[in-house]
Amino acid sequence: MLALTSLVACRPATEMGGTDQPEEFMRKSFVRVAGALAVVAALASAGCGRSTTTEATGGGDGERTGTVGISMPTKSSERWVADGNNMAEQFTALGYQTDLQYGDDVVQNQVSQIENMITKGVKALVIAPIDGSSLTDILQRAADAKIPVVSYDRLIRGTANVDYYATFDNFKVGVLQASYITDKLGIASGKGPFNIELFAGSPDDNNATFFFNGAMSVLQPFIDSGKLVVKSGQTTFDQVATLRWDGGLAQSRMDNLLSKAYTSGRVDAVLSPYDGMSLGIISALKSSGYGTPDKPLPIVTGQDAELASVKSIIAGEQTQTVFKDTRELAKSAVQMADSLLTGGTPEVNDTTTYENGVKVVPAFLLEPVSVDKTNYQKVLVDSGYYTAAQVA
Ligand code: BGC
Repeated sequence: MLALTSLVACRPATEMGGTDQPEEFMRKSFVRVAGALAVVAALASAGCGRSTTTEATGGGDGERTGTVGISMPTKSSERWVADGNNMAEQFTALGYQTDLQYGDDVVQNQVSQIENMITKGVKALVIAPIDGSSLTDILQRAADAKIPVVSYDRLIRGTANVDYYATFDNFKVGVLQASYITDKLGIASGKGPFNIELFAGSPDDNNATFFFNGAMSVLQPFIDSGKLVVKSGQTTFDQVATLRWDGGLAQSRMDNLLSKAYTSGRVDAVLSPYDGMSLGIISALKSSGYGTPDKPLPIVTGQDAELASVKSIIAGEQTQTVFKDTRELAKSAVQMADSLLTGGTPEVNDTTTYENGVKVVPAFLLEPVSVDKTNYQKVLVDSGYYTAAQVA
């Protein structure tokens, strides 16, 4: 809220640079200075949020007009709907128009949508890629048209034409999931061995590797010492990846694992990287008899705190999720695009981690939070992310 309020508070200063100056040159100069001053003043004030690296560089033309293109991967997961809406609201509050499009998880849709945005003359692009490596050609066209690009949540790979990256600490997401499992099982206090199965996200999404590597940094030592046993034997990213984060695919893989590797013994924990997959995995487990007093469900992790999963957690089925506040992520991306357009410098807190194959993309990383039955009320309801009625 803070950053949005403060960005809104920057508006009057920008509006001063309107069209009432007689000379175009005077007007442009005035707008440039006013825009730069507005950003510096606004971000320097307590109300303007994280301001550590912001300064005027004169990169943009200082006007908060025109359309920002927002390209999101799919509506099939609530989080991306919230991300798109949050950004559209925040850009609109600043005076921009928005063109918000969803690619339906089909790479070519996303490429065509971005192409249309470029043709229509958007001033900036904010993109969460479906396939991180498939936008090289279209982003060359964006660069030729001098359209700045912010990579949203997922890293755009294989191109120099991505300016900034707003995301979460993705390695930490995996650490939170895996350490939840090891803590709950009580492995550190000597319990075990336990059986675990592993799932990872889509191989064309850079985040999937970060989540998996983060999780394995916690799990691998216990696998090596025999405290955790992967009875299926499937432990590499390639073996456990799930194209497009598909819940149905996760469900059928879990069905397979249960019928092949668990004719005896039980699975005690499942590392799942995303709520939509966790629910598929839980369905497979229930079809195979889990979820009764004699055969309780294993620990199942997740990510995104989607409503269906929060309800499942409250009902005692899914065990954990990782909450990533999409309101904050939207603010970060909006601040980046707005700075690029008004002559400021986007705020970053990581300039080393996100190498995209061509360059290191400067990033702002937000903090993910582990959520289970014990803290969902505080983290999700008291913070206003969901109403009490939504999770009931
Ligand atoms: C996002 C996750 C999400 C997943 C599936 C990832 O890139 O970071 O929050 O669960 O995509 O949509």
